[in-house]
Amino acid sequence: MRFSWLLEKTSLLTSVFGTTETSIDESDSSVKQVAIIGAGAAGSSAAYHLRRYAEEAGIPINITVFEKTDRIGGRTLTVNVYDDPLSPVELGASIFIDANHILVNATRAFNLSTAKPGTDEKGDLAIWDGNHFVFRQQSNSWGWWNLAKLFWKYGTAPYYTDKLMRETVATFVKLYQAPYFPFRSLSERAYELGLTKITGLTGEQFLAEKEIDSKYAHDIVQASTRVNYASNLARIHGLGAMVSMAPEGAMQVTGGNWQIFSKMVEASNARILPNSPVTSIELKESADPDSKAPKYVIKTASPGSWAGRAETHSVAFDDVVIATPYQFSGIKNANNLIEQPIDDIPYATLHVTLFASPFRFSTQFFKLAPASEVPTSVLTTLAEGDGDADGAGLAGFYSATLVKVVTNPKTLNTEYVYKIFSPEKVSPEFLSSLLGVTVPDTFTGPAGASGEEGTEVVEPISWYHPTVFHPYPVKYPRVTFQEPILRDGLYYTSGIESFISTMETSALMGMNVARLIVDDYLASSSPAETNATDSSNATDSSNATGTTEPVALQVEHEQYVLEEQQNEVPEGYGQPLAEQEEQAKVLESHEEPIAVQQEQDHAPESHEEPVVEQEEQNEVPSIQDDPVVEQKEL
Ligand SMILES: Cc1cc2nc3c(=O)[nH]c(=O)nc-3n(C[C@H](O)[C@H](O)[C@H](O)COP(=O)(O)OP(=O)(O)OC[C@H]3O[C@@H](n4cnc5c(N)ncnc54)[C@H](O)[C@@H]3O)c2cc1C
Repeated sequence: MRFSWLLEKTSLLTSVFGTTETSIDESDSSVKQVAIIGAGAAGSSAAYHLRRYAEEAGIPINITVFEKTDRIGGRTLTVNVYDDPLSPVELGASIFIDANHILVNATRAFNLSTAKPGTDEKGDLAIWDGNHFVFRQQSNSWGWWNLAKLFWKYGTAPYYTDKLMRETVATFVKLYQAPYFPFRSLSERAYELGLTKITGLTGEQFLAEKEIDSKYAHDIVQASTRVNYASNLARIHGLGAMVSMAPEGAMQVTGGNWQIFSKMVEASNARILPNSPVTSIELKESADPDSKAPKYVIKTASPGSWAGRAETHSVAFDDVVIATPYQFSGIKNANNLIEQPIDDIPYATLHVTLFASPFRFSTQFFKLAPASEVPTSVLTTLAEGDGDADGAGLAGFYSATLVKVVTNPKTLNTEYVYKIFSPEKVSPEFLSSLLGVTVPDTFTGPAGASGEEGTEVVEPISWYHPTVFHPYPVKYPRVTFQEPILRDGLYYTSGIESFISTMETSALMGMNVARLIVDDYLASSSPAETNATDSSNATDSSNATGTTEPVALQVEHEQYVLEEQQNEVPEGYGQPLAEQEEQAKVLESHEEPIAVQQEQDHAPESHEEPVVEQEEQNEVPSIQDDPVVEQKEL
């Protein structure tokens, strides 16, 4: 995933700095130059769709993607268990669903195989409140709620919640279609679609308004919002809560979801500049006083270079897309280029702890009888007395899930890879208690080492990979969102994250911005069409709030035309309907991995600490050390 395909394919990647020469023909002013900052879901989708739309419109275009790291995918990333490339596991965004049309279509277009999340390992899914299990069902993936079982415990609430979720998703996907697509104002579109009535309330308020039983909301919906958005129901808006309950058809790309975005960038034929953190975007002085369209110049810095070492990129860009949360990007707003500054928004802090162990969860930890079966997937909710507190409450974590069964390369024994989501770093005491064995402060004991005469020491943890993310915004209720157009020729994708934060929604915003850019080129090159646009705008009855959208240029994008959503209730209430995902996520916000541990030496015996991405670890830290957390993205 690291750009090796590019190196093979072209010689464009020589160096971002100094003598880099590219094949871009900058002398031809009819060729539009577009810069995309960030190669995550949003930037990759923007590049992919820009190429497609520009080709359809016959507009010559050069696309340059600036990426701070050496890989594509952003918060969509895998790590290899035991450092084995044949054993990848999702560290970031792990699932998407049937309704995620951009991602699903891309997997088909690029022949990427998908699988349902979860393992073949038999085990239950359960919801723990720190004292006892409030719900438990048989399932080898927490992706499936057993509606019959839910009905038995919660009556009709699961049915009505599911109906509500389907109606909400059906409304949301209208954003993909004309006349709602493309959109210059997300706030206006959300309002037009009635979605601000849902984002303006907490999940708790929304469900209460819809007369959903509060016990069901507390136990099941809240378990979903916690695993999806690290948020309790009183702190997440209604749309976030509904999305958390929409895991039907959950899937992931075999080998890693990042491949979708890598393929998108490859298909876009963009020039990729890895290890190129953009530090500022500035207006280029125009040599032509009559020129109305602004041109932008971009400065980058070498990672780790001293402050003054910014390099000005040689191309003057007609359009620039900022495809990363601005507050973590390190991009300066030089000379007040962005007149209405992009608001900082609160992001969740999430510790994602991956580890391999020969042990299953302890019965004692979950207050079960010694010989009883322990769940393999544990979601959590608040306990009585926790109130509607922030954080994980008495349970102390949001989820703990068995995600993969592997063979320890040293012992050749079967081990289990677990993923824990928690607001705080997990401690050795917690892990010891969860696994029912003593987990030392450091995992430095060699695997299979002999202890007392004739006794083999079994390592409680053979591979450990902790990471701290700013995975998505805290989805507090709100009715306005950062808009995609910052000024003429300058676009922003991450505003959608406080609406819904997922790979798909970032990809949708990337596609939206691509459409806007090409529509604007079309409008500026054809006065007749521009006029048509203006007049159609005036008569766009759907545009109740006066969006200045070039409706005449809103083409139907055949591949994204969706089937009418099924609003009717699912057949056979009581059947498994909702497939809820392990890292379930459907959406997300503005989240940046605060600190992403990359390029770690995954020697099984090393106990690694969350560190800021690209930061060198010089010593094996103790598990009790504080993770290094930085307010920067991945
Ligand atoms: C632990 C975790 C679990 C998640 N689970 C799911 C899930 O199951 N399903 C789901 O759909 N979503 C999930 N998400 C959310 C999902 O990952 C994000 O919503 C989505 O990937 C955001 O994509 P993006 O392109 O908008 O931003 P990012 O992925 O953050 O991409 C931004 C890119 O810009 C680059 N960049 C930043 N600053 C600069 C700069 N100055 N110059 C150049 N490049 C820069 C970054 O390196 C990065 O590559 C999860 C996220 C996390 C962290």
